[in-house]
Amino acid sequence: MAREIVARGLTLSLRHAPCAHICRYCLISETRKGSALPFSRFERLVHRFFDWKAASKPDVEIRTFVGPSFDYDLDTLQGVGRLRARRGSTFETLNLGGLRMRDADTLKAWLDERQAAGITGFHTSLAGCDKTHDRWNGRAGDFAYQTSILRLAGERGMGRHERLFLAQNTLPVFERLLDVLDGIPGEVRNRYVTLFFYAGLATRYESERITEDIRDALPERIARLRRGRFQDWRSEREWVPLMMESAREPRRMIMKLDVSEANIDRLESSSCEAIFAEREQAYREDYRRMPALDELCARYGDPASRKLYMLSRDLEQKWMDMHARETGEKVPLD
Ligand code: SF4
Repeated sequence: MAREIVARGLTLSLRHAPCAHICRYCLISETRKGSALPFSRFERLVHRFFDWKAASKPDVEIRTFVGPSFDYDLDTLQGVGRLRARRGSTFETLNLGGLRMRDADTLKAWLDERQAAGITGFHTSLAGCDKTHDRWNGRAGDFAYQTSILRLAGERGMGRHERLFLAQNTLPVFERLLDVLDGIPGEVRNRYVTLFFYAGLATRYESERITEDIRDALPERIARLRRGRFQDWRSEREWVPLMMESAREPRRMIMKLDVSEANIDRLESSSCEAIFAEREQAYREDYRRMPALDELCARYGDPASRKLYMLSRDLEQKWMDMHARETGEKVPLD
């Protein structure tokens, strides 16, 4: 029996702002490539999808991703804000991931402009501190750069969100990382600790996963930062019985559609209904080439493994990769 899917939404994505990092745990491929498509054309297309949802598809979720970095010019910043508003949210926090290096004066001017444009805080992702972080993010001096931006932001009354990756290699420097962050002025709006997803380049670092034993003995200062959407850290042996309870149910997915100069003419001349249906069909066909979840688990699951994952999807993806390696079958769209 094959794997079935239910499409519950669509993420329209544009490679608009190339990334200046080369993170070893990156989920996105070819982060240095940008699309030549003007943002305004992308924005028009996305507004059409929001109109379609409002008129006839209230249950379909429409999302956007304009990246891979948030190193936008001010026009794009405002455009992304308009798209967020269509989802009923505001755009006030800028990710620092992939930001180009700027000298001190240029950086201050950049911060002032963003603050004047309505940005009230920054989001940083840190994998350890100092050289440990720099190695994970593929850029010498990145830890010092990111923390200097957080400091400047704090002095301007801006807040911050911190995602801190926990892996075998970041655990020994984690307390020091927290000491550094605690010494930076400004409001910490959210600080949370996560594991690596099983996706993209991070699939190469299975040996970096912490285990049940480490999870259960984490210092309280780190353990209490396990919160929010990704706090369910279970080992493969803990996930398997939970996953098997609903193994024959379809996978509910938000599909992805990369928009670029190569397909924009066709997308602009097609209805949203037709684009969505075509995408759904492509996903369905892809997943039908894969065995159902319980079959994948029986073949590739390791019910004795104590390595931790945040999502059942991580394991499904890992088993599909193993299936692809064994059979030569292509891994489905994600
Ligand atoms: S900053 Fe984000 S998009 Fe860029 S390489 Fe790192 S994880 Fe990938």
